[in-house]
Amino acid sequence: MSGKERLPVTGAQGGLLRLVATGQAESRAELARLSGLAASSVSLRVEELLEARLLVEEGSGTSRGGRRPRRLRLAPSAGLLAVADLGAHHVRLGLLDLSGTPLAVEERACDITAGPETVLDWMADAFDDLLRTHAPPGVPLRGVGTGIPGPVDPASGRVVGPSRMPGWNNYPVADQLGARYDLPVLVENDANLMAVGEARSWPGSDNLMVLKVGTGIGCGVIVNGRLHRGRGAAGDISHVRVRTDSSVMCACGHPDCLEAYASGAALMAALAEAGVAVDRPADIVGLVNDAVPEATSQVRNAGRLIGEVLTVLVNFFNPDVIAVGGSLSAAEPLIAAIRAAVYERCLPLATRDLEIAPARAGQDSALLGAGALLLDAVL
Ligand SMILES: [Zn+2]
Repeated sequence: MSGKERLPVTGAQGGLLRLVATGQAESRAELARLSGLAASSVSLRVEELLEARLLVEEGSGTSRGGRRPRRLRLAPSAGLLAVADLGAHHVRLGLLDLSGTPLAVEERACDITAGPETVLDWMADAFDDLLRTHAPPGVPLRGVGTGIPGPVDPASGRVVGPSRMPGWNNYPVADQLGARYDLPVLVENDANLMAVGEARSWPGSDNLMVLKVGTGIGCGVIVNGRLHRGRGAAGDISHVRVRTDSSVMCACGHPDCLEAYASGAALMAALAEAGVAVDRPADIVGLVNDAVPEATSQVRNAGRLIGEVLTVLVNFFNPDVIAVGGSLSAAEPLIAAIRAAVYERCLPLATRDLEIAPARAGQDSALLGAGALLLDAVL
């Protein structure tokens, strides 16, 4: 079983390590150029990092002809990150190296309504299982992170006013995990993590909105290539009021929030009322594929309502990409209806180069995003 250790690096060493870990630099010359440090200073610190076995120098670099430069890589033994993406009904767990490459990923059933103590203890036990089974011998755990399907205060790591998470309001998730691990801890809204992971799949696009449409509705915002948190609530579109014929009270106490009509939880409730029972939002995708008319019509309506909320945001923010992920995103009519609403109502200049598409990074996008953000906390 792996130990737990904080990385023994000083500020400048950490910066250089991060440049190598993220693939931005693989030589001393590139490190000097990107860090702005003097070449002699870079060489000295690289030697220290090689000595500490956090970096290794291997093979040949990419230059052609002549003597090939050696290439700096993060040492495989430099450390591990344990990350989780907590959902309403399941959790994905991952063990990553410091470059963010998954060594192991698994999904387990998990009921978030069991409350924070139970769920977080269980999550930590699951991390320990993963480490026992998949961690290479002697490689220490360097950090722990989890996504939460609700708003998170970035300053305190507390959950603030979540829907469908009884007992979690104001719960100090970061403190609880920190007490168990005594390591850098990341606690972040799940849509924010998904946005960070997804953004890597859109090279050349610096401004993205990444929607997560599952049991709830979330949105992560990437501005100039970086996650925009605001004070923690940025991107939370779930309680924007929508225009409808009926009136439904939302869990937040206000009528007619987007979430009360267009989330997976809302669609499941509406389908149950129509006599179509489903256990989780992903089942709705199956019903749509089987051409069950109630399901298709509900999903299309949800897409229209989400699209109407997005029209305001697209005109205002003018993103390059709206990527749609989450368990309902596999339902084709959802994205078609979002596109129709946005293209119909937005300014031509706002939509001229806008791409609205299914998320590309796959099921592990939030884990990859957690790895990227956690690396910043670790180094
Ligand atoms: Zn609401």
